[in-house]
Amino acid sequence: MAGNFFKDNADLQFYMDKGIDWAPLVDAVERGRFGAEDGFKDTAEAVGFYRDVAEMFGEFVANEVAPHREALDREGVRFDAGNVELGPTGEQIFKKVKQLDLHGLVVPRELGGMNAPMMLHLFNSEMFARGDVSLMTHHGFHGGMAAAMLFYSVAEGSTEFDPETLQIKATRWQAQIQEIAAGKAWASMDLTEPNAGSDLAQVRTKALLGDDGVWRISGQKIFITSGHARWHFVIARTEDEAEKPGLEGLSMFLVEAFRPKRGKQKEYFATFERVEEKLGHHASPTVAISYDNTPGELIGERGQGFKLMLLLMNNARIALAFESLGVLESAHRMAAEYAAERPSMGKTIDRHEMIADYLDEMRTDIQGLRALGVYASIHEELAQRYDIAANVLAANDEVESQRYRRLSGRHKAKARRVTPLAKAFGSERAVFHAQRCIQIHGGVGYTKEYGAEKLLRDAMVLPIYEGTTQIQALMAMKDSLMGIMKDPAAFLSRLAQWRWRSVSARDPLERRVAKLKSLSLSAQQHLMQRTATDKLKGLAGKPITAWPKAFTQSWDPKRDFAFAMLHAERLLWLLTDEAIAGILLEQAQQFPERRELLERWLERAEPRARMHHDQIHTTGDRILAKLAEAEADTADRATA
Ligand SMILES: Cc1cc2nc3c(=O)[nH]c(=O)nc-3n(C[C@H](O)[C@H](O)[C@H](O)COP(=O)(O)OP(=O)(O)OC[C@H]3O[C@@H](n4cnc5c(N)ncnc54)[C@H](O)[C@@H]3O)c2cc1C
Repeated sequence: MAGNFFKDNADLQFYMDKGIDWAPLVDAVERGRFGAEDGFKDTAEAVGFYRDVAEMFGEFVANEVAPHREALDREGVRFDAGNVELGPTGEQIFKKVKQLDLHGLVVPRELGGMNAPMMLHLFNSEMFARGDVSLMTHHGFHGGMAAAMLFYSVAEGSTEFDPETLQIKATRWQAQIQEIAAGKAWASMDLTEPNAGSDLAQVRTKALLGDDGVWRISGQKIFITSGHARWHFVIARTEDEAEKPGLEGLSMFLVEAFRPKRGKQKEYFATFERVEEKLGHHASPTVAISYDNTPGELIGERGQGFKLMLLLMNNARIALAFESLGVLESAHRMAAEYAAERPSMGKTIDRHEMIADYLDEMRTDIQGLRALGVYASIHEELAQRYDIAANVLAANDEVESQRYRRLSGRHKAKARRVTPLAKAFGSERAVFHAQRCIQIHGGVGYTKEYGAEKLLRDAMVLPIYEGTTQIQALMAMKDSLMGIMKDPAAFLSRLAQWRWRSVSARDPLERRVAKLKSLSLSAQQHLMQRTATDKLKGLAGKPITAWPKAFTQSWDPKRDFAFAMLHAERLLWLLTDEAIAGILLEQAQQFPERRELLERWLERAEPRARMHHDQIHTTGDRILAKLAEAEADTADRATA
């Protein structure tokens, strides 16, 4: 009997069948048009269709992708005289993906896609990553890129809708979207440069506006996934650095790297310089590209590049949580299967206490991460779709448009809180458990025989790309402390409420979740107090009349947040543990069978959270003193 990565996964099926409230999402995706000729009768019919697609995809990956992992890893990608091609196995698999018409899953019907929600695409991505994560990476982004083209066009007002049906009549990058949906072209996101990775303010690629009204881009981008694509979102500097330094001076462009000609011939507008040789992800091309006066189309307005990029990044970071889930599922199943067969000291190794504990932790982390990823995905998608609705309605119905804007804002805030957590937690746990998977295999884990070593090689990039774990930690820390600064009274009231619930809630599980939340809030309070104290110390030499302004306005993130930055990763894990506990509590209140999962989660999360809380309260001063000394030394040398 053929395998099926959807049917063998009870947790995935839980979300498809009852864990997700599909009604608002389907309504937003279908733009309220039930009963149309090419649409669905109602929500139930739409979800039935999503289920069929997931089942079909689960079978496809289990049978047409997973068995070829070793070949995909061995064949890698071919690079010949500036031309990049996938290996023969990868090519074959994508031919089948194209036959199944799955490239345009999230693209609207009127543009040649299936009009499915991003949530379904992410479930498929998880299954694809379980089959082979490197090939999934190459495939995963493209639907999202096509969706971003549409989103950007709607935001800048270059998409025309039928006001009655809300069907798209025309959109600026229609041809590109249709090409991607048909599987005839790829797209990529070009941010990184040799001296600009985490610090995008250092981007040096330039775009100049010619007298002919055409923007031309020059510079080098490196490490670009699917960088051999025809269509590239490129971040480039358009503004004078003296006037608009750093991120403010960046704009976003859509750039055509080549145009197909007869047969396999192409006319190139950019140069594919090389394909990186990497530790893992061998079937995914990672390309260095140079642009030399390459024409590009400005997206949105000048100086909006970083803001626009965040939309792509948010989607990509949530997608990365699902990519990590695929690796984790693979590691868990591979390890569990081996452990159930391998005897040692009179029993199979899965009966040995420590190994049983490892496997249980893997299972718990997978389910916790999926809960967080689904939550992030649904809120992000609703925010984006409501934003589109607000833009479309702005001209004709201001009241309705404002209602959608408010709805979008609410969902955006929820998605924003958990996106860095899902990205960081998923990627770090994928590495951790892929290594455990090798350990459970013992010596053969270190050989190529079972594929455990490939999993770890593939996993190790996850905490690096789409913003490193450290960058996610800084973002989460900044958001939570800024939130407190904006409204300290609301923060204190939240703290008091959770503390009260931790002793008064009737359900013991709710009390434990409340305690976890209190622990996280207490750590945030400590970070805030330390940050404020350090800032006050800095005011010592200034006249007292300057204090209020200096305290409330002139915050220098590098100087004033040092203590919080030191502990940002610990805070990130605290926030993750409490966020997942909160989501699982809601599930447990609605579906009693999920209580067991919440208990498992809390058993792991509580001691971890206490450790991070204690570290935040008791450590850090020694390192900060050392760093301050180094800074003073550098300053002395500069003035000497
Ligand atoms: C296989 C692969 C695929 C990729 N695909 C793409 C792609 O499609 N598009 C694209 O644009 N890029 C892509 N990248 C690039 C990737 O996004 C960058 O490598 C990543 O953002 C890190 O940048 P960097 O390599 O310059 O490292 P650096 O920014 O130099 O960071 C090095 C280390 O320093 C840490 N660090 C940096 N700043 C701070 C700070 N303020 N506080 C604490 N720690 C800090 C980082 O977390 C990291 O641990 C890809 C990379 C790889 C390996």
